[in-house]
Amino acid sequence: MEARRSNTGETAHPDLRDWLGQLAGVGRLAVAHKGVSLIDELAAIAKKLENERAVLFPQPGQHNIPVVANLFADRSWIADALGVPADKLLSTFQDAVRHPLPWVEVAVAPVQEVFHERVDLLRQLPIPKHNEHDSGPYITAALLIARNPKTGIQNVSIHRCQVSGSDRIGVLLLPRHTLHYFRMAEETGEGLEIALVIGVHPACILASQAIAALDSDEMEIAGALLGRPIEMVKCRTNRVRVPAHAEIVIEGRILPKVREPEGPFGEFPQYYGPRADREVIQVDAITHRKSPIFHTITGGGVEHLLLGGIPREATLLEHLQRSFPSVRDVRLTRGGTCRYHLAVKIDKKNQGEAKNIIMGAFGGHYDIKQVVVVDMDVNIDDEREIEWAVATRFQADRDLVVVSGAQGSKLDPSSDNGISAKMGIDATKPLSTDAMEFKRIQVKGIEKVDLGKVLEGDPKVAFARIVAG
Ligand code: MN
Repeated sequence: MEARRSNTGETAHPDLRDWLGQLAGVGRLAVAHKGVSLIDELAAIAKKLENERAVLFPQPGQHNIPVVANLFADRSWIADALGVPADKLLSTFQDAVRHPLPWVEVAVAPVQEVFHERVDLLRQLPIPKHNEHDSGPYITAALLIARNPKTGIQNVSIHRCQVSGSDRIGVLLLPRHTLHYFRMAEETGEGLEIALVIGVHPACILASQAIAALDSDEMEIAGALLGRPIEMVKCRTNRVRVPAHAEIVIEGRILPKVREPEGPFGEFPQYYGPRADREVIQVDAITHRKSPIFHTITGGGVEHLLLGGIPREATLLEHLQRSFPSVRDVRLTRGGTCRYHLAVKIDKKNQGEAKNIIMGAFGGHYDIKQVVVVDMDVNIDDEREIEWAVATRFQADRDLVVVSGAQGSKLDPSSDNGISAKMGIDATKPLSTDAMEFKRIQVKGIEKVDLGKVLEGDPKVAFARIVAG
């Protein structure tokens, strides 16, 4: 990764601008005309480019602050952002989870160059509306940093944030760590101090999506990914520490005993999460750089799926390998929305172990709904290969595991408000079998064929010659 150097010769702290500069340098950044509408139009253009390029929108909706979308259009870009080859992506992330690097606190921060004590969200920030039936503008790419009310240990995660008023945000807290901290605070009648951090280096966003243990601070994983401690600064109106080199910070509190309508909002399963009474953030202040950039993610888009999927894969792999040394690789498939369906590749050593691995994977994250275990000769980047293994190595009465009534994803519309069945498919070959029985067919010598050498240059002429005798 290119590192900027300051006048003093120290490398500058990695930030969003580094990544955008890197994208621009290799033709992966598009810039839209000025003045695109923040309602629907910006997301439509971003969505159109989601498999190709990042896109920067100057003066969207007549705002001075530009918006950027599509930080990742392909799995390989994530490896680029971490400065590693694609086949080292998951192991790099695993290393960072195993060896987190504590952050350091600084007193002065670019993200606090401008301080707004009076808040008017839609006037001060260019917040887009994304999918057609979203209830309105949403902040979708903010790291929500919260403090454990008893210990001060921080948690980092991303939640959808509806603009509910000039200084009020409706937030969806699924049953993970932020909700746990909030319940601890609410039981004592207090609000939960939080910050929403917008516009950070991709490593920070990726780290926020790790399936880390409760009270493991995801910013320490980000530090390990970047190979240097993240510089953090104390918020102006509360005790939360935020990345000093972010673009924008919204400071506030999740209010105790308050629930207000939030939703609908287009989500990763490609459906709308419904409207319901949810937690509310009271905003106390906004800080930002002098000329900040606002990052947005279209709900359910490629960026959303990749950013969530890859850190989850790495942490699920780490979780499984702790108990099952035969596990070699995992993928959260795109068809399974990079959340629900897990493919596990194993170097099978014991009959029956695939079923133990299936049960282990169900315990890795409640979102996991289907697990397919395959052998080493199956390419798990290709969903057709996974289906082939199921078609030819699996018998439902023998190799299927079904668990009913387990905790699943509330965003899965086929679940009963998050109560979900789990399905495990052992699509591995039996260990003791006739060598030819499960031998994959192959044409001998295909890897040596050079088409330039064996084909006629002009097939029309050659064909005419052949039929003329
Ligand atoms: Mn956490």
